Amino acid sequence: MSQKVIDLLNKARSRELTAISQYMAQHYELEDSDFGKLASKFKEIAIAEMKHAEKLAERILFLKGEPTSKPDGVAKKGQKVSEMLNTNMALEAAAMKMYNEAAMVCAAEKDQISKELFEELLKEEEDHFNYFENVKDHIEKLGTAYLATLVG
Ligand code: FE
Ligand code: FE
Repeated sequence: MSQKVIDLLNKARSRELTAISQYMAQHYELEDSDFGKLASKFKEIAIAEMKHAEKLAERILFLKGEPTSKPDGVAKKGQKVSEMLNTNMALEAAAMKMYNEAAMVCAAEKDQISKELFEELLKEEEDHFNYFENVKDHIEKLGTAYLATLVG
């Protein structure tokens, strides 16, 4: 078993833990400022990241490693909606870059299962990135008219 792969899985898990706390913090804030629709979507994505963190832990345990419980960043608070979207796009883009590279290392280490896990997560981070980018584009184009549709 490759310690290199275990370390990458743990690095990814730290990334996921940061995303979870960030999206949770945001969905409480959005809930508070009455952006109910946006809040439920952010909550849904936070839960998707929790599942990622669990899948990574399962694989780490299988490889006889110890899953980390440390996030690699701190959730930002008090951002405007457009700032939140920038924060989240940066988080997703960093995860995509990390998972792309990790999948290649796993291939080199001949760990096909870990490679597939990184590819599966990569696909979902891409979807998250696209979602945040879409909302950002809509806000830029339509401004407050679009923001009003996110209230609920
Ligand atoms: Fe994730
Ligand atoms: Fe994500």
